[in-house]
Amino acid sequence: MCQLSTRLENLPPDWSIIGGRALTARILTCEVDPKSDPLGQKAKLVIACGPLAGTAAPSCGRLSIGAKSPLTLGIKESNTGGSVAHSLDRLGIRVIIVVENGGHSSVKIIDKTSFAAAAKSLTDLIKADSEIREKQRYGTSSLVSLLSHLGSMPVRNYSGGKLEDVENLSGEAIEKLNKQRGGRMNSCMHGCPVHCSIVFKNKKGKQITSGLEYETIAMMGSNLGIVDPDIVARFDYLCDNIGVDSIEIGSALGIAAEHGKMQMGDAKSVERLLTEIEKATDFGSILGNGVVETGNALGARHIPAYRGQALPAHDPRVTKGTRVSYLTSPMGADHTAGLSYEEPAGEKKLLLQSLQSQLLSAIWDAMGYCLLAVPNNKTSLLNLMCKLLNARYGLDLSLDDLLSVGKEVLKGELAFNRDSGFHSTKESGSDFFAPEETETQNTVSAEETSKLWDDLDAFQLEL
Ligand code: SF4
Repeated sequence: MCQLSTRLENLPPDWSIIGGRALTARILTCEVDPKSDPLGQKAKLVIACGPLAGTAAPSCGRLSIGAKSPLTLGIKESNTGGSVAHSLDRLGIRVIIVVENGGHSSVKIIDKTSFAAAAKSLTDLIKADSEIREKQRYGTSSLVSLLSHLGSMPVRNYSGGKLEDVENLSGEAIEKLNKQRGGRMNSCMHGCPVHCSIVFKNKKGKQITSGLEYETIAMMGSNLGIVDPDIVARFDYLCDNIGVDSIEIGSALGIAAEHGKMQMGDAKSVERLLTEIEKATDFGSILGNGVVETGNALGARHIPAYRGQALPAHDPRVTKGTRVSYLTSPMGADHTAGLSYEEPAGEKKLLLQSLQSQLLSAIWDAMGYCLLAVPNNKTSLLNLMCKLLNARYGLDLSLDDLLSVGKEVLKGELAFNRDSGFHSTKESGSDFFAPEETETQNTVSAEETSKLWDDLDAFQLEL
C-alpha cells in the first residue's frame, strides 16, 4: 500500500470453488500470524468475491472483506452488496490482498446451457419463497414487529420493556411513509432479484440512505429510545459518512445515555456525539472505538458486548439459539454468522441447530451468496449451487463437497482464533450470557456449549 504497487498471481488450480469467506479464511490462516497486531505492518486486508460472482447466477455477488479484527482480535469477515464482486470476477480477479508493502470482459463458463438452467431455477426458487417476498416489500425492517414483540430488539440500552410507538419503525410503517415520498426498494448488488434495500427519502423527497436496515433501526433507534424513522435514517446517513458501524456506535451511545453523556430519546444529543466522533474529540474518540472502550471509560457495569464487539440487535438473553451462536462462532457475536430463533427442546438439539446454522452461513459466505436471499428450501438451494459450480468450472461436485467447504472455513477460522488473542479478549457483557439472566428456560450450560465444535467433522445437515 505504501509503495502503491500491485502484483498479479494465479489462483492455485484447486482453489477454483474457494471464494468469499472461504478465501478470506484460507488466506488469513496461511499468511497472517494470529498473534500479529491487527493494525500493524504485517496486517492484511483480504477482499474476495465468490466463485459465481460475475455470472448470471442470482444473489451470488457478495463481496467479502476479511482481516484480523482490532476489536475481537479474532478473524473477521463481513460482506456487502454493490457491483465490485461482479466486476472483479469479470476481470478474472477472485481476490485482492492489501498489504502495507507490498474494461468488461466476459466470464468463462464451461457448460452454458446447464448454467443458464440452474440460474433460472435458482431465480424461480427465490421468487417463490414467501419470506423473501416479505423482504422484497419491507427489507429487513420486516423484523421490527416480530423481534420487538419477542423482546429481543434492544430498547433504551438493553433495559428491556416495551417502547411506546415502536410500531413507527415497523416495516409496514416505513413502507407506507417511503412510498408517499417516492422512495423505493432496490437491489444492493448486480443480479439479485430480491431488491430488499430500502432507498429512504425525507419529507422533501430527497434520498437520505439507500440501505435502511433492521440493525440500524434497532441500535440507532429503539436502543436510544427513538422511534422516528426520519431521525434513524439520518443517523444511518451520518454513520455512513463518518465511516462507523451503526451497531457498535448505537451500542456505545446507549451506554453514553445511561451515564449522562446524552439524553435518552433525544436526537440532537445523538447528533452532537456523532459530530464529536467525526471531530475525534477526546470523548468522540472513545465512542468511536466502540462500546467496550466507552463502557470501560464510563465505569459501566453492564456492557452489551462479547469478545470486544457490540452485540447485534438480537438480545441473547431472549433466544437460546442465538446465545449459543454468539458464544461459539469464530466471528464472535455476529448477526450474519448463525442467528437462530428456533427453540428445539434439549441441549443437544440446540447445539446442533446452532452448528447447522453456522455451517450454512459459512457456505453462503464462501459462495458470495447473500444470506437474505436464502429460501426456506435450503436443500434445493445447495443442489443448485452445486449445479452452478459444476457448469461453470466443469466439475462434479456433490452436496458433501459444499459441506466440506463450509467446514474448512470454520476450522480455519477457529484455528486462527486459537492463537490470535480472541480468547483472551477481555470479557465484557458476561451478564448478557449468564444463565440466570436468560429469559428462556433450559439454557445450554457453558460446559455443553464449549463442546459444540467437537461434532463438526461428523456433522450432516438435517434440512
Ligand atoms: S438479498 Fe437484499 S441485501 Fe442481499 S444482495 Fe439482494 S438486495 Fe442485497
